[in-house]
Amino acid sequence: MSTFCGQMREYSRISLDRFDKENLESTAFFLSHCHTDHMVGLSYPSFHYRLNSCRDIKLYCSEVTRQILLHMQDGNYKHLDKHVVALSENNPTRLKIPNFSGKAEEVVVTLIPAAHCPGSVMFLFEGEEGTVLYTGDFRLEKGSAARIPQLNSGSRSKSIRSLYVDTTFCTPKAFHIPSRQECRDVIISVIDSWIQLSPAHMVVLRGKASLGYEYIYEEVNKEFKQKIHISERKMRMYTGVPQISKCFTTDPMGTQVHACEKQLKTVYMASFNQLIEKDIAQKQLS
Ligand SMILES: [Zn+2]
Ligand SMILES: [Zn+2]
Repeated sequence: MSTFCGQMREYSRISLDRFDKENLESTAFFLSHCHTDHMVGLSYPSFHYRLNSCRDIKLYCSEVTRQILLHMQDGNYKHLDKHVVALSENNPTRLKIPNFSGKAEEVVVTLIPAAHCPGSVMFLFEGEEGTVLYTGDFRLEKGSAARIPQLNSGSRSKSIRSLYVDTTFCTPKAFHIPSRQECRDVIISVIDSWIQLSPAHMVVLRGKASLGYEYIYEEVNKEFKQKIHISERKMRMYTGVPQISKCFTTDPMGTQVHACEKQLKTVYMASFNQLIEKDIAQKQLS
């Protein structure tokens, strides 16, 4: 759960992953990814008012995050459309941070993929107040930081003045996180052992967050040549990300693999019951 107040010691007119209270005085906003604990204040009228107060005040994020944000929660963030600017990843971009009481400050920002959920990034800021790195949740393998060119300069790692880590996983419970590959292999083998029993055997994948299991869904889709059933509402969230939406279907009868939240219970349970005599397995994702 994010506990970051939104502002760093450096670049005080920038706010990240927090869009309420004193952050409303900032003049540049950054969103690392679309998990609700990093989006506090984003839907509030006061934040929209702040964006509208000056056309140079923008919300910056990756292109995938922009697409997901504008289509998630039935369009709850659609009104932010003209204020959201997608920056390309791994590509240093020079930005002017507006300053209403003096000269605008220039900062170079680089979005570094964080491999946490679709669109998730870290922000590397370089400018007069030093080089600082902000990251929300991330999922890097051991040694991968050394392979990120933006964090290195020649053969040495860049000197980072401050590192801000705002992650749910800074807890003893998460000292060991299995690799993506390990998780994938276990989940695929569990699904395989069940759906091979008959075409009527179904698997329901349940995740805690609405976003973040896409890697597994893509792998399941590839392995079993079956799309994953999701709700219409969730399908709308992926409207702008066809590389992800192609793994899914909104037809509940066309697949043995479901991630369709409550719909299974409320709408389709009856038809599944006829098929498999209440023999539905629920494999918890987390
Ligand atoms: Zn997250
Ligand atoms: Zn389903």
